[in-house]
Parts: sequence; C-alpha cells; structure tokens
Amino acid sequence: MPTLGNPKGTIEILKKYNFNFQKRFGQNFLIDSNILAKIVESAEVTKEDFVLEIGPGIGTMTQYLAESAREVVAVEIDKSLIPILGDTLSSYDNVTVINEDILKVDIERLVQEKNQGKPIKVVANLPYYITTPIIMGLFESHVPLKSITIMVQKEVADRMQVGPGTKDYGALSLAVQYYARPEVIAYVSPACFIPKPNVGSAVIRLDRYEKPPVETEDEAFLFAVIKAAFNQRRKTLANGLANARELGITRQQAEEALLQMELSPSIRGEALTLREFADLSNILYRKIK
Ligand code: SAM
Repeated sequence: MPTLGNPKGTIEILKKYNFNFQKRFGQNFLIDSNILAKIVESAEVTKEDFVLEIGPGIGTMTQYLAESAREVVAVEIDKSLIPILGDTLSSYDNVTVINEDILKVDIERLVQEKNQGKPIKVVANLPYYITTPIIMGLFESHVPLKSITIMVQKEVADRMQVGPGTKDYGALSLAVQYYARPEVIAYVSPACFIPKPNVGSAVIRLDRYEKPPVETEDEAFLFAVIKAAFNQRRKTLANGLANARELGITRQQAEEALLQMELSPSIRGEALTLREFADLSNILYRKIK
C-alpha cells in the first residue's frame, strides 16, 4: 500500500535523503491522500492501462498509479530524485523511471514499445512552469492518447475549459478544446503540497477526441488565425488579423469574411466560438491560397 501521500511519510523520505527542493523544477509534492485517490480515480486507470507519469517527484502518485495500472513509466528530470524513487517504488515491478526532460522524450516510441501503439493515459501533477508546452506538445505531436489527467495552476485549468465572452477565454482554451473535451475535477488548496505553492491548483481531465469537433482546411492556419486574434485583445478581430503579417490577410479581406459569416466586421476575437474560428479560417484560407 502507498506509504507516502501524507506529511509524515513525505518529510521522513525528504530527511532520509537530505533532499533540497529545486524551485526551477516546479517541485511541490502532494501530501493529501484524498486528492491523490481522486486523481487516479478520475483518470479511470485500470489494470489494462499503460500510464505515462510526468514528474513523479518522490513517487507519491506513482505508488497510487502502480497499484491501479498494468504498467507505469515515470519521467523525472531531477537526478537527485532517482535514488529516492528507487527506494519508494522498490516493491513495484510494473514501474520504470526515466531520468529525462519530458520535452525531450520520444513519447511516440514509448507508446509503440510499451502499448503497441494504442492510446495511452497521461497522469501528472505537472511542474507549472512548463504546463502549456507539455500539453500542447502531447496534442500537436499526435501521440496516441486517451486522456490527460493533470494537476495544473487553477487559472490555467479555468482557461482550458471556458467558452467565448469570458476574460479567461483565449488561444489556450481554443487549442485545448480543438483536441480534447476538458473537465475540471477538483480545485486544490496550496495546503495539499510541500512546499505550498503560492497559487491555487486544479485537477483537470482532458479526453482526447478521435477526430476534432470542427473541420479545417489547414490546422496550422487555423491556429495562426487564433493566435493573431488574441495577440491584440483590445483590437477588433479584423485589425488583429491584418496586423499579423505572416497571415497575409488584409483588413478588407477579414471584414468580408466576417460579413459572409453574418458577423459584425467590428467583432472581437473573444466573441467567436471554435466552430466560428474554423469557418473563418476556412474562408480566409480559400481567399488567399
Ligand atoms: N508527482 C509528484 C507529486 O505529486 O508529489 C511531484 C510533482 S511536482 C509538482 C513536479 C515534478 O516534475 C517534480 O518532481 C520536478 O522535478 C519534475 N519536473 C520538472 N520539470 C520536468 C521536466 N521538464 N521533465 C520531467 N520532470 C520534470
């Protein structure tokens, strides 16, 4: 049974190894067994599953995952945690720890080797300094994925799941919602970690769509349009698009496309749904390509 996931067990291990927290690696270890159980339960991990864990720390969540999954690979950047993980995970024969930067791991190869190329589950209490590159890297590389269940900064979870007309709505909301269905599972207080982070946290589950909910002529062009739309939030969408030189769109072309969609030429990007962005980018793509 898990021995960590509480303040006492965690402090004992940290003392035994004289561990020094590295701020640059976003190290905040979970010490709340209820939250840990909730993460694993909401990820619906079963004995059929291969799970990739990003940043196991001292192996707290890894123990829970090892109990529930068929096999776990945990990727940890901090080499001083590797002997600790050897200790805390010694009773599990279904866990492999890789000492590497997750952004450099060939996840596609891992999925082939460990899960015969079938979609995997990712579960993690993420290092907050690289949340977006990790999530977008997983989606954009088209690694076979079933779901991503992760602890992130509360504001980031909110941004991932909101729709148009709210202040948190932006490029991240649209990118995540293009690839996955987001659901916030729980909000988590700083008191559930050692050391306490100075932000609130949330567990969010992202269920990867087999096929995106909207059709695009060109995925990269859709994302370039979305990026341009939110680069200058206070400007109208038509101005934002015209100012993004790399798109090669004039303000007039943008306004015509909006009129064709029966939208106001002075509308702002934050008012458009993902479907409207897809329609707009398709109209513009046909105009200029
Ligand atoms: N999973 C543990 C827990 O819940 O207690 C630790 C979570 S802590 C928020 C984030 C972990 O990610 C740390 O162990 C940190 O060293 C590791 N980490 C940071 N950057 C990483 C990277 N680029 N690749 C892999 N692991 C990383």
